Parts: sequence; C-alpha cells; structure tokens
Amino acid sequence: MTLSRRFVLGAPVALLAARPACAATKHRSYAATHGTAPFATEHLLPGDTLDLTTVDRANPAARVIALTIDDGPDPNDLRILELLRQRNAKATFFCISGKLSAHRDVASHVAASGNEVGCHTHDHPMMTDIPPAAQLRNLETAMEEFGNIGVRPTWFRPPYGDFDETVVREAHDCGMQTVLWTIDSQDWKGLSAGAIHQRVMERLRPGAVILMHSTKPESVRALPTIVDEGMRQGFRFVTMTEWRKAMQACAVPLTLSSAANHSAIHGTRPLPR
Ligand SMILES: [Zn+2]
Repeated sequence: MTLSRRFVLGAPVALLAARPACAATKHRSYAATHGTAPFATEHLLPGDTLDLTTVDRANPAARVIALTIDDGPDPNDLRILELLRQRNAKATFFCISGKLSAHRDVASHVAASGNEVGCHTHDHPMMTDIPPAAQLRNLETAMEEFGNIGVRPTWFRPPYGDFDETVVREAHDCGMQTVLWTIDSQDWKGLSAGAIHQRVMERLRPGAVILMHSTKPESVRALPTIVDEGMRQGFRFVTMTEWRKAMQACAVPLTLSSAANHSAIHGTRPLPR
C-alpha cells in the first residue's frame, strides 16, 4: 500500500523534473516547425548581413544550388564524393564532430576534395532545449574536434532546423554563419530514391539549398539523377561559400530608384525554373 502510494505520488514529480522548464512557452524556429525555410534572411540565413529578398534570382548567375549533406561523416560520403567528382559538382557536408573519431578519414577526405565541411554540432541536440552555456560548450567542443583534423567550418547547420538568436550568436562567435534549407528531401522519412528525386526536382529554383543525409542510402541512390537533371536545367551545384558569393553578386541594392525593380522581381514576376 505504502509502496503503491509512493509510486503514484512519485511519478508526476519525476516527469515534471525531466521536462524542460520552458517547454510550455518554447518558440521553435520557422524551419523547425515548417520543415523548410523561405528564401528570406531571417529564416534561411539568420543573422547574416545579406538581405536575400534583394537577390535577383532571374539573374543567370543565381542559377546555383547548394547541396547540403547532413549527419556524416559516414562511409556513404565517399560514394557521394565520387558521384560529385564525376559531374564536376560540389556540396557541403554538415558533419557531427562526435562521429569524427569513428570516421576521421572520411571527414578528412571530404575536406581535401574541394567540397566544404560544415558543423552540425558535437552530438546533434535540439539546441534550444539545452541551456546557452551547454550550447556554446557543444559548439566549442565541435570546433576543437574539427580543428584536430585541420578543418575550420564557417557554416553551422542546427539539428532539426532548431535555433534561436542565442544559438545564431554563439555560432557566429565560433566563426560560423547559421544556414537552414529551402528544400527538405525528406529522406529521413524513409522515402524511396524516386520519391526523393521527385520532391527535390519539383522544388528546384535558383539559389535553392537542399537538405539530404548521407546516412540514408536512398538519398545516395537519388543523387546522381538529381545532379544530372539539375545541370541539364542550367544549375551549378556549389558549396555554401560559393552559393553565398553568387547570392551576394545577384543582390540588387535597395534604393528608391530600384524599389520598383525589386517589387517586379519579388512581387509579381514568377521565378524561372
Ligand atoms: Zn542532422
């Protein structure tokens, strides 16, 4: 009787203790709640000085795609590197530093290949669920571990697209710009290679940032035709750093005289495929 009462009384207390104090009021980022980010700085490139709404995506120079491959290093990364090399395409691999000890050679190979290595934290937490001090410690640990293999990431991809201003500032303090994505391949949902291919191709636009995972064999299978078809449509597959340079080059300064042009670009004119 006593034991039973203790159990009943104890359970809710234990549950309350395990629950984050701010769970009821937590405000997730747009990408965390919508699965993707609009082509707007505060959602796609939070904290950056580049205003993405001023980018003229009809400019031929904007026909670039940033392919991002998350959750490595993974042995599949080597297969992806080879298919990219065969097509003269590039990607950015957002790696989890805690996996470096098991796949150090893979990460080093990615970095040496001319593709980019970004930071995907040390151990893939939902960042806004942990205190700011733990967030910073996580990123600093990751940077130290990347440094041990001679890599210094300048891009940060928050797991699950979950970030807030503090996370963005901490990443910035560690030398990284936070970036989300405009196309979620949904490979993490277990889609087939055909379904992944269709989802991505239907959403391919100038300046798109594609989210895929090297831990998903179906994504590795879908990638060759995604890159081939994208290139046939005149897109170049580039690293995050090259992507930002291209977006910067296509940004139209917002002056009074160009306001009408800006409205034409972003208001009524349909985006080119
Ligand atoms: Zn991830």
